[in-house]
Amino acid sequence: MISGSKKIAILGSTGSIGCSTLDVVRSCPERLEVVGITGHSNLELLRRQAEQFRPSVVVVSDESQVADFVLSNSPDISVLGGQDGIIALVTRDDVDIVVSAIVGSAGLRGTWAAIDAGKTIALANKETLVTAGPLVMQLASDRGVSILPVDSEHSAIFQALRGGRNAEVQRVILTASGGPFLNHSLEQLEHVTVDEALAHPTWNMGPKITVDSATMMNKALEIIEARWLFGLTVDKIDVVVHPQSIVHSMVEFCDGSVLAQMSPPDMKLPIQYALSYPQRWPGPAEKLDLTQNLQCEFIPPDYERFPALLLGREVAERGGTCGAVLNAANESAVAGFLGGRLEFTQIVSACRDVLNHHEYDPNPDLEQLIELDRWAREEILRWKP
Ligand code: NAD
Ligand code: MG
Repeated sequence: MISGSKKIAILGSTGSIGCSTLDVVRSCPERLEVVGITGHSNLELLRRQAEQFRPSVVVVSDESQVADFVLSNSPDISVLGGQDGIIALVTRDDVDIVVSAIVGSAGLRGTWAAIDAGKTIALANKETLVTAGPLVMQLASDRGVSILPVDSEHSAIFQALRGGRNAEVQRVILTASGGPFLNHSLEQLEHVTVDEALAHPTWNMGPKITVDSATMMNKALEIIEARWLFGLTVDKIDVVVHPQSIVHSMVEFCDGSVLAQMSPPDMKLPIQYALSYPQRWPGPAEKLDLTQNLQCEFIPPDYERFPALLLGREVAERGGTCGAVLNAANESAVAGFLGGRLEFTQIVSACRDVLNHHEYDPNPDLEQLIELDRWAREEILRWKP
């Protein structure tokens, strides 16, 4: 017998994580109910999602497009716009869990409002923790809110951590696919194209995180995410390259035992775990087939070819304003690369420069971080090699 469904709001329902979340809902209709969805572009998809899932609220987060968004024969569905619409959705009494799946620091305000309102968070939007980790974790603690990871590595660590006590953890080991350029030389990296960077070997994701995987900035952001989410010092966070993306991460305990979480690369599983926690449910994610000749390689990362990893360690260690600056610089530099303004290797060089010359503050408040986010984006637009 299943008692009561969990009521969810999905921020960024039209994205890769948003669509996978709706796949999970489709396969567990008696356990999950969609109260609200939001989308910024691709409003045709948002409309189809609204028609299929009949949420109470649909938010068009790009304010300029709200007036054109009409749902026919749907007087029961409220259409709201902009950040105010997102905040109105996440603070509704009937929302239990907010799936935070907007890309970039654009997801921060909505996630913050949801935590402030006491909602459980299923967090895909790692940029929120990279930008404002200590403030976000403090708010969650003050409100008694659980932040449940959706990022596959952090979900794996979260699951493996149930195998021992926090004081018994020796280190966590984040796995990285290595992206499409794992075996490229430095020289080859200088000439890669946008199409090559968008062709990820194991994961199918939105464009920003796909480029982040190619530079390995994604792993840098994940080191910072793990730092704040699990309250670990940087010396307890390691990275290993695992091209098959089957072991999603590991925890090593003080006795030398290493617990890993394994499954084929399919985000539906970590999304569902965040929604089912503390239970497990049967679900739609692909299952591991051990009758196939399964390869599982583990390779140390190359910090020279992928210097983003060093940035990640440094920023996780220094904290303060560094995360907001690195994150925004990277978002802006990735947009510059996708738009043809920056070369691939310049993404990380530009981030390094902007980080180095920002005015560091070890204890910033939220408004300061939002202002630095704006500043770092502009610095990238001014950046010259
Ligand atoms: P995506 O680009 O596919 O989707 C992004 C969503 O955010 C869309 O719904 C879009 O409409 C919305 N959006 C974009 N800009 C917005 C803005 N300014 N304001 C409000 N909404 C906006 O991205 P994705 O791959 O689904 O990634 C979403 C988040 O999940 C990112 O933080 C990413 O790092 C994280 N994540 C993704 C994956 C994955 O497999 N895709 C895995 C782990 C973590
Ligand atoms: Mg990840």
